[in-house]
Amino acid sequence: MQLYKNQTLKVHNSLSGKKEVFQPINEGHIGMYVCGPTVYSNVHLGNCRTFMSFDMIFRYFKHLGFKVRYVRNITDAGHLENDADDGEDKIAKKAKLEQIEPMEVVQRYTVDFHNTLQKFNFLPPSIEPTATGHIIEQIEIIKEILEKGYAYEANGSVYFDVLKFNESNEYGKLSGRKLEDMIANTRELTAQDEKRNPQDFALWKKAEPQHIMRWPSPWGDGFPGWHLECTAMSTKYLGETFDIHGGGMDLKFPHHECEIAQAEASKGKSPVKYWLHANMLTLNGKKMSKSTGNNIYPSEIFTGENDILSKAYAPSAVRFFMMQAHYTSILDLSDDALLASEKGYNRLMDGMENLKNLSTGTKSDFDINTWRQKCYDAMNDDFNTPILIAHLFDAVKHINLIKEGNESISEEDKTLLLNTLNTFVYDVIGLENQSTVKDDSNALNGVMDLLIELRNQARANKDFATSDQIRDKLTALGIQLKDGKDGTSFSIN
Ligand SMILES: [Zn+2]
Repeated sequence: MQLYKNQTLKVHNSLSGKKEVFQPINEGHIGMYVCGPTVYSNVHLGNCRTFMSFDMIFRYFKHLGFKVRYVRNITDAGHLENDADDGEDKIAKKAKLEQIEPMEVVQRYTVDFHNTLQKFNFLPPSIEPTATGHIIEQIEIIKEILEKGYAYEANGSVYFDVLKFNESNEYGKLSGRKLEDMIANTRELTAQDEKRNPQDFALWKKAEPQHIMRWPSPWGDGFPGWHLECTAMSTKYLGETFDIHGGGMDLKFPHHECEIAQAEASKGKSPVKYWLHANMLTLNGKKMSKSTGNNIYPSEIFTGENDILSKAYAPSAVRFFMMQAHYTSILDLSDDALLASEKGYNRLMDGMENLKNLSTGTKSDFDINTWRQKCYDAMNDDFNTPILIAHLFDAVKHINLIKEGNESISEEDKTLLLNTLNTFVYDVIGLENQSTVKDDSNALNGVMDLLIELRNQARANKDFATSDQIRDKLTALGIQLKDGKDGTSFSIN
């Protein structure tokens, strides 16, 4: 079904700073590229939010009947610690620290990334290319840029000449930065610098003898600059100009700005029609950061094993929490916010369950067609999931009124309502019905409280045979009791 023919979708294009009517380059087809993770550590919850926003966008495009080629890369080389082309390669550094091969680091964290995304019910992208699998393509682009005169070689490295590029193109147009301001605010080059200008960025870096990740090139052994891989992989699979490029807000500069420069310099045309940027996730009002400890991993939310959490949360409840904010807004995560979202998620699941059992009448008090179009209008307005969710709750309100006998619904409308809810809740925002998980965990918590209480009573009565029996039987089942100063808690292996 080509639903897109009846819907007008608008997207916020970071390049123009405006909402624009979305018209793909080839009717009915969409090419979308999203910058994927650098696989040197467990995936961050903030990154999950970015990828989840694009998963929702991918899902909505598919629902509208577009044929979508969604490319999300894996960065497995070339991403240095410092955006200004110095510092160690993040993956090589981790490999040295753990005394394993860089590709073992890549494999370990790629698996973690996929497992986490699967828990959140992500759809896999159409292609998931890696930087190391596209070294030849990257070298070819460097040659093209050198031929066009927008890059220069220095001591086995190749740098992009930003000033030269800016004479005929506009460097900074995506991030809204002016090159003159950037120049005014940067340090002078030192004698050791190979760059002609501090704004220039590396396309190819010479590998020092100790650098383990290296490839041969016309300029000697080295490795590609981080920005280049996305230009190589996006244009290879989606063409020299494609519909959508997405990523986190923090990638706008320098990463995406450099991608535009590389593509314009090598192919002579702007690579992307619509640039979409997802905003960040904060934790208890502050930026998440590993170094300050204000940080949380997805696995800690699923198990509840983090000091800021009062309990564990099902992945779909967390996904619902994320979808309650617009993808371009900052979202703050806290235990209170998760508790509130979990309540809302359960209410939605209960409403959908109640709908199935509603008895129908001859007429409907609730105009399903108008409501249904409102759901589309919300999504058509730059994927406004919080407004969509408000409409979903409006439907739940009517379901409850019908259940209580205060309103009625016809058989035909009941089917349409159920189908529409299934579409938006499961297919578009990507939730799963995990309320059984919720019930199980409530029951389990109740049983465990009871066993802990019985064990405490036995210990108080000096009946250690019984208290040990409870603990040992639980251990055999993989449940560990932990006695602390605040009482006894348990964990499941
Ligand atoms: Zn990228």
